[in-house]
Order: sequence, then C-alpha cells, then structure tokens
Amino acid sequence: MNESRDVWVFVEQEAGELAEVSLELLSKGRELADRLGGQMSALLFGYGIAHLAEDVIHHGADTVLLADHPELAPYRSSPYARVAIDLARDRRPYIFLLGATPTGRDLAPRIASALRAGLTADCTDLQLGEYRKRDRVYHDLLLQIRPAFGGNVIATIVNPELHPQLATVREGVMRSGLPDPQRTGRVETIAPQFRGRDLDLQVLKREVFPLCCDLKGASIVVAGGAGVGSKENFQLIFDLAETLGGQVGATRAAVDAGYVSHEHQVGQTGVTVRPRLYIACGISGTVQHRAGMDQSSKIVAINDDPAAPIFQIAHYRIVGDLKEVIPMMIRAYRDCAR
Ligand code: FAD
Repeated sequence: MNESRDVWVFVEQEAGELAEVSLELLSKGRELADRLGGQMSALLFGYGIAHLAEDVIHHGADTVLLADHPELAPYRSSPYARVAIDLARDRRPYIFLLGATPTGRDLAPRIASALRAGLTADCTDLQLGEYRKRDRVYHDLLLQIRPAFGGNVIATIVNPELHPQLATVREGVMRSGLPDPQRTGRVETIAPQFRGRDLDLQVLKREVFPLCCDLKGASIVVAGGAGVGSKENFQLIFDLAETLGGQVGATRAAVDAGYVSHEHQVGQTGVTVRPRLYIACGISGTVQHRAGMDQSSKIVAINDDPAAPIFQIAHYRIVGDLKEVIPMMIRAYRDCAR
C-alpha cells in the first residue's frame, strides 16, 4: 500500500479559543504539505467546538477531522488517544504534529506507542530532506530538529520507516500565519468509538489559573538572571519592564533561586520569546537560555563582567552593576517621556 503524503496537526483549544501553538503548527503543516504535494488535516476534538472548524481552515487546513462529543471535554488521555489512534491507523498520515504542551506531551507518546511509530519530542525546527542509509536513499523525510545533550548540540532526528513521523513542537518556535478568510476546506465529522476502559477516568474538579504574563506575545522583554542577586532586587526587573511596557523574563538560575516563578523562564526548558527588544540583566548567556531568544531581537545586555558570553550576541553592551544601571535607565526613560 502506498503511503500518503498527508500532514496532520492536532489542534488544541480551550474555552472556545484555538491554542497559539496550534496556529503555529497549522502554518508549518501547510508549508510541509505543499512541499510534499499532500493534504493537511487538522484534528479538532472537544465538545461544543464545531464553530472553530472554519477558523482552523482559514489557518491552512484542507480538512478538519472534527470529533465533537461530550466525553471529549475536558481533555482526558484515553478518549483522546482512542480517537486519534483509530483515525491514524485507518488513514496513515505521513507526518503527525502536536504541540509540546502538557496535552501534546501526554497524547503523542500514546499515539506513537499504539502505532509502533517513532516520536521526537520538543522539536525547535522541522524541515524536509534526504537521508541515506547504506545504499538506500530516503527522500522528503521529516528532519526533526531539537537541542540534545543538555542543549550542547542541535540534533537532527529522522524516522525513515516507522511512520507516521510524529513530533511535538515547542511553543513559540514556529511563526503562525495570518488567517485567510477566503480559504475553503472540508469538515468531516467523526463519531468516536470508545471501548474497554477508555472512559474510566472521571474529572471531578478542574481549576484553570490565568497566566501571570504573556511573554510569547511581548514586544519588549526585560529578563533577569542569577546576577540580580535576590528576590528583592528582582523588583528592579519588574520596574524596568513596567516602565518600558514590557514583560518580565528570567533564566532558570533566577527561577531556581526563587527570585521569580517558572512561568517567566526563557530558554530550552522555558518559553521561546520573539520580542523586538530583549534586555538581559545579570545573565551570562548560556546556550540553554539563548535557545529561547529570537535572533532577530535587538539585545541589550547589562553585566558586570566584560567577558560574559551574552556580550557576544548583544547589540548594545552595558558593563556595570545592574543595581546602578537599571535605576539610571528608568530615570533616563522617564525624563525623555516627560
Ligand atoms: P549565571 O550563569 O550564574 O550568570 C549570572 C551572570 O550575572 C554572570 O554573567 C555575572 O557576571 C552576572 N552578574 C553578577 N552580578 C551582577 C551584577 N550585580 N550586575 C550585573 N551582572 C551581574 N537556563 C535558562 O535560562 N533557561 C532554560 O530554559 C534552561 N534550560 C536548561 C536545560 C538543561 C537541560 C540544562 C542542563 C540547563 C538549562 N538551563 C536553562 C540552565 C543554564 O545552563 C544556566 O545555568 C542558566 O541559564 C544560567 O543562568 P544565569 O545566566 O542567570 O546565571
């Protein structure tokens, strides 16, 4: 049986809104499907979510596989996995993408295991390319790119035979395209066939906490590192961010030291940000932190060590104690704004 060239994207939604990472994946999935000459299908599961299908098509899907069922809200691993596995077994997509979110990280391994397929978690880039193994050449394989060995190498992982080529992709690393309201597509309603113990787990109570910050969408990020020195000093980072109308980022060292909560962490195991301006205060600039910074941002670094690696990528370098520099910056900005 000939394999399809189709790309699938699992679309996440919460409270009637499509997740940003799903919009990013729809954009990437569209690009891959066009290059492969295949179709892109989006899997949209939940209850009372049929109205979102049109939006998914506007973001690039040819077909929406819509499973709108009371047992699919809120998210539970087994019913979601059942529907996704049944569909994938039947239709054999070539590529299957999910967000590297708590939901995607829960669902993807279940699908991969049931289909005996390979899975690469937490990709930061996806390309199509060739792979040679002895005398065999595989064309148009998904090159699944992600940091490995603690972020010290960027690995390209291929899955030549055990398809679909399943990958989860980090939030914020792909760009989401603008919706095209003229775009048309097909909505196919799926009737889930739950079996066995699929519905055993019941959700008795659910609490949704609002996000403390919108780092991913911020145009200015002021980030603090271990060099800030204390939780009290970290108020300086909040003050500068507030003065400039930006959001607060942090390194893992600052989070681990308890200066600020994990939601602020930028980097390989934190958020990926794409601001126009990134102000790095007391940050050495390790590869794991830089993994969350966009190369196109203008970077200002404040560090008291002139040899700090962050200065190698900074556009503006301020050598000095951040406890003196930041109050000066705030004063200067307020004077100018007056
Ligand atoms: P440091 O490296 O200690 O640097 C502090 C800097 O502050 C120094 O350059 C110092 O000169 C400067 N400084 C000190 N005092 C002052 C002052 N008064 N004024 C100005 N400058 C001063 N890290 C992340 O950030 N994000 C991640 O997502 C992440 N993921 C990781 C994943 C893995 C698998 C691993 C192994 C590590 C990860 N890390 C991550 C940790 C990372 O390796 C570094 O430990 C961390 O980024 C260092 O943070 P830092 O720059 O704040 O601290």
